[in-house]
Amino acid sequence: MYLLSDRSLMGIIAFSVLALGGCYNPSDNTAEQAGLAKGLDLSMFAKGAFTQEPKIVDCETAGGTKTTCYQLITDGAPAGRTPGPFCPRMITDGADVGGTWFSKEGAGDLIDITGEFILKLGEYYGDDKWLVYDTQTHKVRYTATKEACLGAAKPDVEEAYMQNCIECELWYLDDGFSRTFLIPTTPIPAAKTSRVPTAGIALDGTELSGSAPIDAILGAYTIAAFDDCGGHINVHQGYHYHSSVGCTDKSNSDDGHALLVGYASDGYGIYALKNPEGKEAGPLDECRGQTDDIRGYHYHAASPSENMFIGCFHGETVRPEGLPGGHPAGGAPIGAHGDKSTIR
Ligand SMILES: [Zn+2]
Ligand SMILES: [Zn+2]
Repeated sequence: MYLLSDRSLMGIIAFSVLALGGCYNPSDNTAEQAGLAKGLDLSMFAKGAFTQEPKIVDCETAGGTKTTCYQLITDGAPAGRTPGPFCPRMITDGADVGGTWFSKEGAGDLIDITGEFILKLGEYYGDDKWLVYDTQTHKVRYTATKEACLGAAKPDVEEAYMQNCIECELWYLDDGFSRTFLIPTTPIPAAKTSRVPTAGIALDGTELSGSAPIDAILGAYTIAAFDDCGGHINVHQGYHYHSSVGCTDKSNSDDGHALLVGYASDGYGIYALKNPEGKEAGPLDECRGQTDDIRGYHYHAASPSENMFIGCFHGETVRPEGLPGGHPAGGAPIGAHGDKSTIR
């Protein structure tokens, strides 16, 4: 995750800014000029995905390569869509009232969080202690306030917030909340594949997250509910996805290939698992990547319940710790999500 404080951001901008040209013109970007499969195509992003015009700035990869990066600044909200719903309110509610969650199989489609799912959590996970509803009123226990969201959305869930369906709202984010993504303008194959907390950025400007700490979440008898698009909100990352179910997918070719979901932090495209005809891509390498003539190297997202998008990074990513400045906006330690220092 490439969260930078305002101060560090200023440092980068001051260091060098290679303007993309007057206004942000999606059809006139360097990715196109550089040819196919040479990094991200800004025109694929949804209108409103960025809060500032994307810039190209100098950056240094974790592998020590000095290069240029797209600097993408967002406000933590998915462009063109209101997140939710997440948790059902009554144990009689149907799938329309609640969102989704990983299946316990760890593969395949997400499952609906219905009232009945909440009612039968003990059965589902084989642990009688689950009780995420009020046995008198039949109301689902969920985090209804910002205070509850903050108390529940962390690794050591406060006692008071155990046995909860967790949901947070965008207005809980700090005023002026922003995320900065630095992605190499031209992907650089890495000497060694690597794992980092943030998989990348979806075409609606929100994060394709690293794996959610499922054991900690379930261990506190909580469900960190996703909406039907496979994402949820916390105050450190804003809205972010844990699953690829098609909400941001766009076609960027007419050869029947799977649709583009977003871009990985190393600049390669992340495509849907299946093509429009339902056929799964393959064969894939350990990072879930493959190469073809049209796209060059690119990834295909894992199935929705696998708790990941890609297996590793084929290319170099930018190291946040190499940058000046203090801790990132929002107060989360760098890498907060993937290293389990923050639940959800
Ligand atoms: Zn492919
Ligand atoms: Zn999360």
